[in-house]
Amino acid sequence: MSDGDGELEARLVEQEEFEPSDEFVEQANVSDPDIYEEFEENWPQCWERAAEMLDWYDDYDTVLDDSEGPFYEWFQGGTLNASYNCVDRHVEDGNGDRTAINWEGEHGDTRTYTYEDLQREVNEFAAALRELGVEEDDVVTLYMPMVPELPIAMLACARIGAPHSVVFAGFSADALATRMNSADSRFLVTCDGYYRRGDALDHMEKANEGLEGVDHGVDATVVVDRLGEDGFDHDLKGNQHDWGELIDDHSGDTVDPVERDAEDMLFLMYTSGTTGEPKGVKHTTAGYLAYTAWTSHSVLDLKPEDTYWCSADIGWITGHSYIVYGPLALGTTTVMYEGTPDFPERDRLWEMVEEYSVDVFYTAPTAIRAFMKWGSQFPDDHDLSSLRLLGTVGEPINPRAWKWYYQHIGDEECPIVDTWWQTETGGMMVTTLPGIGTMKPGSAGPPLPGIDARIVDTEGEQVEAGRAGYITVNKPWPGMLRTLYDNDDRFLSEYWQEYSDPDADEWVYFPEDGAKIDEDGYITILGRVDDVLNVSGHRLGTMEIESAIVGVEGVAEAAVVGGDHEVKGEAVYAYVILEDGYEESEEMREKIIEGVEDAIGPIARPEQVVFTPELPKTRSGKIMRRLLEEIANEEEIGDTTTLRNPEIVKDIQTKVSQD
Ligand code: ATP
Ligand code: MG
Repeated sequence: MSDGDGELEARLVEQEEFEPSDEFVEQANVSDPDIYEEFEENWPQCWERAAEMLDWYDDYDTVLDDSEGPFYEWFQGGTLNASYNCVDRHVEDGNGDRTAINWEGEHGDTRTYTYEDLQREVNEFAAALRELGVEEDDVVTLYMPMVPELPIAMLACARIGAPHSVVFAGFSADALATRMNSADSRFLVTCDGYYRRGDALDHMEKANEGLEGVDHGVDATVVVDRLGEDGFDHDLKGNQHDWGELIDDHSGDTVDPVERDAEDMLFLMYTSGTTGEPKGVKHTTAGYLAYTAWTSHSVLDLKPEDTYWCSADIGWITGHSYIVYGPLALGTTTVMYEGTPDFPERDRLWEMVEEYSVDVFYTAPTAIRAFMKWGSQFPDDHDLSSLRLLGTVGEPINPRAWKWYYQHIGDEECPIVDTWWQTETGGMMVTTLPGIGTMKPGSAGPPLPGIDARIVDTEGEQVEAGRAGYITVNKPWPGMLRTLYDNDDRFLSEYWQEYSDPDADEWVYFPEDGAKIDEDGYITILGRVDDVLNVSGHRLGTMEIESAIVGVEGVAEAAVVGGDHEVKGEAVYAYVILEDGYEESEEMREKIIEGVEDAIGPIARPEQVVFTPELPKTRSGKIMRRLLEEIANEEEIGDTTTLRNPEIVKDIQTKVSQD
């Protein structure tokens, strides 16, 4: 590293606030700070701004019906179709030859779909689904990797009014069966396989095994042939159909988009299950689509002529809202990539940013920490000057990773939006608007206009600036979940019990995250409520301790959990991944302990520091702390089926028992 870089680094470490450049602000979709007040004064009518971004068959009568809270209804009386809004209207507007999807396979094969191509494929597959017997309101399960047929299938379902339920391809056969059973789904679209770090993976075996676990009958399965000659030996059985043949049979067919009521279900999404049983989150057509279009416009600052890339998997809500529905509703070009960021080399993403001239890039802190661990030579090798805006989602981002992202990916030119939201919220809730707000690394920002998020104590009273509490949302919003599939009771007990006053008809949504707020109203998410430790009577947020640990030079990532302790009640266990070039040593261990003591105090001192090459993670890159806790307490290890890397659990267990 040259001296110049060293100085820059030092300055960035000190700096705690960042402003968007004038150049960015001038071109931003939203740059008038009055928007916060306008939304507040005009609530809930302000949400018409989101609804106006869509094309409707029938106009809605009311913006919000809150007579049956918390079973709220948005844009009642209106009818529309999500596939029409994401596809047809752009073709009708004369933009049929604009690229809708730029897809790249792991081996570098590419496919480009213009909006016209997308329209054709969506129509043909919609016709095929109809012929297979899919009717309006039938739930179609999509167990697919990152192939273009996945968004095509989603939009085809939306076209005929059949809600989809996407099951992440990395999930097990059991996970598929559980979700199909829970959603009463009789139709499956899947794929023969896909490529991961150069190898062809057999997906069909898992799909078939999953189908055996479905309790009710399955009417039809459609299989995409992704692997061609590399494919595994699976003959299609009775009601299994080849995607390609179906499309050929329906070549040129068109299907009129079904007029859906605003509140009709668009899809079901099972949450990643970091904490307990998966929940079938129900999202509806108008509120969800309006909200994702609006936040794509105001937060991601997407323009129709942009090329935009969200590196998440579509099997996660982020992919639904911000690879498929939001960007396509706006007529943007969305990039999809099949594989991993380190194949064939660790510069794969940057190579693609350069190749496609990506304008806006959205990823997760866990990915950013991996990029950091690999080193800045990988992005430095590429021309990333097309980038205008960066985003993160999924977990709190520690300031060191934020600044690395800002410097090495954004070249200090791109604002960063740190977006807090959940499967249940449908879209972003807390973040700065990039054309307006000051950015504070580590803090997501204020609630978006029209979002009444507060930080409260256990009694529901707002806490003072600087104090830790829980985040709540005190008014409904269009993108909110409507219920948990077939389980209104769990919907009520899971989200509305803690802080609501049903007798007064006051409903407060509880996301189950800890958070604090500063004097400017900026919210810092501290992690899940379950992730708060109680050490000798002191409540400590795992996220805070982790942030202190990853602040230590040489540490790439950390996970902190509570282990039982005879004296303290709970003790801090830290699992640590080091950056490349750093070795596990007593010295390193001491530096970490010191780092925590300096940042938080001796009370947070880790009882044990375990060095590990990986952490157990869910598909969306979240650390499964529950497992680490079980390891720390030498308990029996629970369900690992939703892990991306189940093999790591044994390795960590061995290390803990040695230490
Ligand atoms: P489950 O609810 O089944 O346990 P999950 O909560 O991991 O799974 P998601 O809906 O994908 O499933 O994740 C939402 C959670 O991710 C939030 O509640 C929050 O804890 C965390 N999160 C998301 N974005 C951010 C962010 N920008 N900053 C901090 N935390 C975030
Ligand atoms: Mg959650």
